[in-house]
Amino acid sequence: MNNTCVLVTCPMFTYLEQELETRFNLIKLWDHSSSKAEFFNNYSSSIKAVVGNTKVGADAKLIDSLPNLEIVASYSVGLDKIDLDKCKQRGIKVTNTPDVLTDDVADLAIGLALAVLRKVCVCDQFVRSGNWISGDFGLATKFSGKSVGIVGLGRIGSAIAKRAEAFQCPISYHSRSKKPNTNYKYYSNIVDLAANCEILVVACALTEETHHIVNRKVIDALGPKGFLINIARGAHVDEPELVSALLEGRLGGAGLDVFENEPEPPEQLFALDNVVLVPHVGSDTGETSKAMADLVISNLEAHFKGKPLLTPVI
Ligand code: NAP
Repeated sequence: MNNTCVLVTCPMFTYLEQELETRFNLIKLWDHSSSKAEFFNNYSSSIKAVVGNTKVGADAKLIDSLPNLEIVASYSVGLDKIDLDKCKQRGIKVTNTPDVLTDDVADLAIGLALAVLRKVCVCDQFVRSGNWISGDFGLATKFSGKSVGIVGLGRIGSAIAKRAEAFQCPISYHSRSKKPNTNYKYYSNIVDLAANCEILVVACALTEETHHIVNRKVIDALGPKGFLINIARGAHVDEPELVSALLEGRLGGAGLDVFENEPEPPEQLFALDNVVLVPHVGSDTGETSKAMADLVISNLEAHFKGKPLLTPVI
């Protein structure tokens, strides 16, 4: 396999790059950013695999420029940066990294909810700045027992539900279909879900249908005592609407791991102490990153050895 050309779309976890380098002829797209035309002239017909991630995947333009592409292996579970229709048309296989990251992302969702409601970051700042000397911090909002509404009861959504249940939170959810194996309350409409929960957690896949699924109507249904947690993708939320709801006090607070325009979240959020912002780190622990990288490599090895893929998407 050492001669097989694998294109990596952008800098990734060093371990993944190193392990790929020991097995394949690794080509780094960013090394050739100044001379794209020359790059495609030299390499396009030899590239058989693309490794992408949440930043740069495989869009139609890239796929079209690689006539001998056989497989796209994403270092992510989300598939929103891959043109799946194009891959299907061309018979290109696609793999992702489900399950191994579920715990981390669900942990972070609960962590964000706790951080926002209990004002953990503001408290931290209060202690560090020496303000404690001048008096007590004040009161926060209880998390245990709050009703949690989950948008997308998939692997991560279910793991969030399980964790929230341990905090005695009643769980309800919205997805395209009612799940047969759960007693959680189902809402076929996200506005009804938002109107009937106190913490709305976005955990669904980003598709054309779910783009801006959290719009002004949903935010207003959640209301001034409601909290929004987003660990899925930034584009699920209409950000200008979120920002104005927070500025106008029409929403209680938000915990956000993902943003529409990463790495540049709306600056108006920076001054608000009822939001907690983290830089798309849902699955970024050493343990999980290694497990994801190993899965990417195992999928590529399986493909080039003619064996079944471990986590096939198509
Ligand atoms: P999953 O098991 O495929 O779950 C996705 C869920 O989305 C499904 O349950 C699906 O339910 C729901 N969904 C799809 N279309 C919908 C629609 N139109 N309306 C409502 N719900 C819809 O995927 P997962 O492993 O849980 O991952 C979920 C997402 O989390 C990924 O796609 C990714 O974007 C995000 N993620 C973020 C991070 C991070 O670092 N922050 C890390 C990993 C993943 P139905 O089919 O019943 O509609």
